[in-house]
Amino acid sequence: MIDIDFSVFTFLYVSSGMAVILGLWFYYDRRDVSLYERIRVRHTFHCIQCGTLYSERGAREVSRCPHCGFENAKLKF
Ligand SMILES: [Zn+2]
Repeated sequence: MIDIDFSVFTFLYVSSGMAVILGLWFYYDRRDVSLYERIRVRHTFHCIQCGTLYSERGAREVSRCPHCGFENAKLKF
């Protein structure tokens, strides 16, 4: 049987619990970033043919205007 002091046992018990919580926090944070990044990102486009402002989800550089069908580049600020 392994003899360890009560304070060492308490420290290891609390440390392992905190390590599990931090590991789960890191895992779910990375998972959310990878899953929802495409949904969160919106780009604004300005149609140079009809003047319509519209937005699209996802990381795209060129989008087709919903009114006239002209392809426009995203606005850069
Ligand atoms: Zn247009």
